[in-house]
Amino acid sequence: MESAIATDTFFTRLLAAKGSPLLIAGPCSAETEEQVLATARGLQALGKIDLFRAGIWKPRTRPGSFEGVGVGGLNWLRRVKQEVGLPVTVEVATPRHVEDALAYGVDVLWIGARTTVNPFAVQELADALAGTNVPVMVKNPVNPDVALWAGALERLERSGITQLAAIHRGFSTFAPSRYRNAPTWQLAIELKTRFPHLPLICDPSHIGGRRDLLLPIAQKALDLDYDGLMIETHPDPDNALSDAAQQVTPERLGEILTELKYRYRSS
Ligand code: PEP
Ligand code: MN
Repeated sequence: MESAIATDTFFTRLLAAKGSPLLIAGPCSAETEEQVLATARGLQALGKIDLFRAGIWKPRTRPGSFEGVGVGGLNWLRRVKQEVGLPVTVEVATPRHVEDALAYGVDVLWIGARTTVNPFAVQELADALAGTNVPVMVKNPVNPDVALWAGALERLERSGITQLAAIHRGFSTFAPSRYRNAPTWQLAIELKTRFPHLPLICDPSHIGGRRDLLLPIAQKALDLDYDGLMIETHPDPDNALSDAAQQVTPERLGEILTELKYRYRSS
């Protein structure tokens, strides 16, 4: 099937205007209104963040851990948008999440790695999104299956969602690895050859699982000409309710971004 992914989208317009990688940052999870607003203000002060992320519904591996604040957190994201001036993105895994996120004015949605693996779930999301053409980012499935990743993008395309981007967050492996999720870079490159116009964003936080790996992973992605980065940020990373080991403060993110070398693109 000829790819219907639009070339003029939320993502490509930002990229063309900046001429440098898209930067998405924010906490793994929205925890409190103060934490969300403090993170957003710290990020906005860096002057280069394009989109604020926060998990509202968290897909945790085992029950009994923090599973997100739920729909109430969308009010905090609305304040980020209105008072801090950053567009916002959340993970959606069910049609109800889509309905709630859009009702609260969330600008961009993303599909998480545990949802991309399930064609039934992706199809339900695609059906719920039909007619909206809201921008959607699709994380790779947890398992190293590029066809499943492509299939999720195609399901959205067929529902008329043409403002798409892919997020590479690494793949589960049984083999011992220094990474939380092995990057297996060639799979992301293969996706890009299937969808040449699709912006490709790297998530070094979930690939590395450790804050000291953020810089080398992000640099590798930029050396491979990725279009953007998504990095988890928290005002007090060690006490985060999810993914504490991989989050950094907005100030530390600012230092990392200064250390990264990337080429500017002219549109
Ligand atoms: C997240 O972005 O916090 C998340 C749950 O990611 P993933 O779907 O990549 O595991
Ligand atoms: Mn996370």
